[in-house]
Amino acid sequence: MSPVNIKNADLHSHSCVSDGTLTPEALAERAVARGVELWALTDHDEVGGQHRARDAALALGLPYLCGAEISVTFGGETVHIVGLGFDPDHPGLVEGLKRTRGGREQRAREMAASLAQAGIEGAYEGALKYVGNPDLISRTHFARHLVEAGVCRDTYEVFRKYLTEGKPGYVPHRWAALGDAVRWIREAGGIAVIAHPGRYRFTANEEYALFSEFREHGGRGVEVVTGSHTAQEFAKYGDMAREFDLLASRGSDFHSPEESHADLGMLPHLNASLSPVWEALADRIHRP
Ligand code: AMP
Ligand code: MN
Ligand code: MN
Ligand code: MN
Repeated sequence: MSPVNIKNADLHSHSCVSDGTLTPEALAERAVARGVELWALTDHDEVGGQHRARDAALALGLPYLCGAEISVTFGGETVHIVGLGFDPDHPGLVEGLKRTRGGREQRAREMAASLAQAGIEGAYEGALKYVGNPDLISRTHFARHLVEAGVCRDTYEVFRKYLTEGKPGYVPHRWAALGDAVRWIREAGGIAVIAHPGRYRFTANEEYALFSEFREHGGRGVEVVTGSHTAQEFAKYGDMAREFDLLASRGSDFHSPEESHADLGMLPHLNASLSPVWEALADRIHRP
């Protein structure tokens, strides 16, 4: 299928190589079962699942784009940048991601110490039980443990009460610089996309600064349709894509059948007035 005819692209999802619960192979099957026409696995700060995801997708007849979601610190806030269509073996990208992952272990130990002060013991060991990749312990793994331990009803409650700024268990962390993340993606032949812009607690001015600086660094896309956006945000970020001359992306941000609100391939299509990011990546798509 020509990229121009693709509507059901899902270019944001997580496997057990980061903080999802399914394997890359199980995700590929799920994507096909839900009618996805082009898929990208975008694990946090990690490309270790890319070859598996691509091979599984192609074996099922599903076109595939390489992906990753890079953690960035911008304006004192954590911002996520999705990279699409890059070479997952590019040394600069691989090294940059390795450095970005580097602080996670120490941060996890500090999170556990902070939770212990709040009376919750053994959270590090508990979170480890959910970790599929020892290099990538995340807040999500702590959240799953705290639900299992009966501290909270679901992972959303854990984040509300424990793992977000100002709450016990939250440890501030410095991630990659915006310019570095965009450069790693570009030098590896991919396109950088601002992930779920509606999730950041920015003022209008700060958001404008993010979009402008991202463009100056050579970033080219923004997620318009994503699992954490409301219908108003689909419209708002569609307008911002046009205002900043950015390509539009679409992805569920699926993590787990039990936890995620949006399943693979189930969100509304991009508005026809937008330029889909996958049309600019036609030569980077792996085809069956
Ligand atoms: P980390 O990279 O360790 O800071 O973990 C970030 C991940 O935690 C995100 O990618 C989401 O999967 C999850 N997450 C962050 N905030 C929330 C929230 N408020 N509710 C549920 N999950 C969240
Ligand atoms: Mn996640
Ligand atoms: Mn994210
Ligand atoms: Mn994500």
